[in-house]
Amino acid sequence: KLSKRLETVAKFVPTGAVMADIGSDHAYLPCYLIHQGTASRAIAGEVVKGPYESAVGQVQKENLVEKITVRLADGLAAIEEADHVDTVTIAGMGGPLIVSILEKHPEKLQGVTRLILQPNIHAKVIREWALAHEWAILDEEILEEDDKIYEILVLQRGQMELSTAEILVGPKLSQRKSPAFIKKWQREKDNWQRVLQSIEGAEQTPEIEEKRAELMALIRLVEGV
Ligand code: SAM
Repeated sequence: KLSKRLETVAKFVPTGAVMADIGSDHAYLPCYLIHQGTASRAIAGEVVKGPYESAVGQVQKENLVEKITVRLADGLAAIEEADHVDTVTIAGMGGPLIVSILEKHPEKLQGVTRLILQPNIHAKVIREWALAHEWAILDEEILEEDDKIYEILVLQRGQMELSTAEILVGPKLSQRKSPAFIKKWQREKDNWQRVLQSIEGAEQTPEIEEKRAELMALIRLVEGV
């Protein structure tokens, strides 16, 4: 059975999609999408030999070699023009790694109309990347599983405007304010406040002052939301 996290990613894949799952590990997500009849074809990309082999094994075991191609490649290099991929998923990595994957082979995104990205941390950098590259947030989701909180960003081509607070916490998520959202930002705020307290008695260097100002700005931003 798929994790709630990956099930939520799957929910945003359009019916009939030709999808590429980058950093697929066991290829659970593409296998699920093909079995479900959501994706018509899929690519599973992996840069590391071990996970690549486990993806190959899983696809064989599930009798899906006709529908899923597994490739050993760095990021979007797993996508070939003849695949006609329209949907890309990248899940289970940090935001900065996801952004570096998107930036390394931008030409591979030419035919892609939807990105479904699930950063484990720092979703903010993905929203910044989207703003700068004319992708707009179609939807967002936040969920809790095994005491971890995950965000999922669904992007389509287009422009958007986001405030500083929306870049940090997400425009859709901050409208909905779900329990997981409240919990995440309460946790973050507690952490920042703890750091603030720990530097309270510290020496007054410009670096410390800058850190203090930064933390206070973040706390104020989140409190505003
Ligand atoms: N996507 C799966 C999920 O969400 O459960 C697996 C997540 S796993 C924590 C991250 C995977 O990304 C690892 O298998 C790693 O080898 C792969 N990975 C990291 N950087 C990559 C890159 N540049 N290109 C392709 N795969 C990469």
